[in-house]
Amino acid sequence: MVRAIVGANWGDEGKGKITDVLAEDSDVVVRFQGGANAGHTIINDYGKFALHLLPSGVFHQRIANVIGPGVALDIDKLLREYDELVTRDIPRPRLYISDRAQVMLPYHIDFDRFEEERLGKASFGSTKSGIAPFYGDKYLKIGLQVCQLYDKELLKARLNGAASQKNAILEALYHQPPIDVDALYQKLLEQAERIRPMVVDTSLYLNRALKEGKRILLEGQLGSLRDPDHGIYPYTTSSSPLAGFGTVGAGVPANSITDVYCVTKAYSSCVGAGPFTTEIFGDEATELRNRGGDAGEYGATTGRPRRVGWFDAVATRYGCMVQGATECVLTNLDVLGYLSEIPVCIGYEVDGQTITDFPNTPTLMRCKPVYTTLPGWNANVRGVTSFADLPENCQKYVDFLEAQVGVPINMISTGPKRCETFRRR
Ligand code: GDP
Repeated sequence: MVRAIVGANWGDEGKGKITDVLAEDSDVVVRFQGGANAGHTIINDYGKFALHLLPSGVFHQRIANVIGPGVALDIDKLLREYDELVTRDIPRPRLYISDRAQVMLPYHIDFDRFEEERLGKASFGSTKSGIAPFYGDKYLKIGLQVCQLYDKELLKARLNGAASQKNAILEALYHQPPIDVDALYQKLLEQAERIRPMVVDTSLYLNRALKEGKRILLEGQLGSLRDPDHGIYPYTTSSSPLAGFGTVGAGVPANSITDVYCVTKAYSSCVGAGPFTTEIFGDEATELRNRGGDAGEYGATTGRPRRVGWFDAVATRYGCMVQGATECVLTNLDVLGYLSEIPVCIGYEVDGQTITDFPNTPTLMRCKPVYTTLPGWNANVRGVTSFADLPENCQKYVDFLEAQVGVPINMISTGPKRCETFRRR
């Protein structure tokens, strides 16, 4: 059985916490795309953690954690995160790294920074973790697979090959010194030794695990609207955060996913540039931002203040559609308890018309939100763990979102802690 936990929106929907909850009845948790550019916040019995690259099953000794071939593997960051867990008395996690995963190289991070600087105001709001240059190189076929680290001649040849192209750009476009291939080669040899015990053919491992009846959880990063094909291109990420890609990026059969849990917040939040139709500003935004999440809406990786807004039913319905959601998980419901009225976006106005289907990006840029206003519940529902115990207006809010999105909201989160979650059905 394979289940996927993915985001319906712009990312930061609270997937980390939900993965931590669902990991409890999983045998394997797999990261299938992205890299250290976003983070999950997890609060459990050990304390509070921001995970960037490690799968969220690392707190459970029983669980095997897999970095699939679709991930951008920043070895330094991965080891740092692993060491931090061990220092904080977490039992040594079981971690497997795909021998086909590709390695994030220091020059990918440099290129990311140089390009954002070159673009100036027109930049994409990259986290400067090297993600776009990394995936660019992967598809240009000048990337480096983990397995290539263990063949010295091949490694040298791959680095020299990539550097011949990169150096030309470094010099001509960015006016930067060339890549020091020898230093990079030495560093990679050291890194390769450190991860050697964890490197396996994870696709084989997962397919065998499936045959043995093991329960696999795929953990998505970011959300639907950051997908390079279906999202708000070019304000997207560079790998697909969709459950459909999960099978590719993890290495499990296309027909193996049984459940797609699409996580969405009771309001909206968004990090980075791009159209965000229901964005709010000023005091109204500051209040929602400061009340959101576990300690305000600030990026788990970057610390950047997140843009915030009201729930966008148009974007979320679309986000769930492209994910193939079998059910929705609604998080951060507790955050809205301070409001006496809550706007929900039920359509977009564009070119004199009201639309309810999420449009392509140029059209989206011209859209204005059409709101309906629901009564708030003016009550603290933090930690409530049954639907019947939610105030009537809060129940009605959930029912309204469910009807709008068209996917059952079966799981609800009323606080950042693992125990502040319940299944409604
Ligand atoms: P992810 O990348 O989707 O895992 O999301 P993040 O972890 O970056 O952001 C979600 C934020 O919301 C984190 O600060 C979580 O601790 C917090 N969080 C998750 N669920 C809830 C919830 O139900 N209520 C509150 N108040 N915070 C939550």
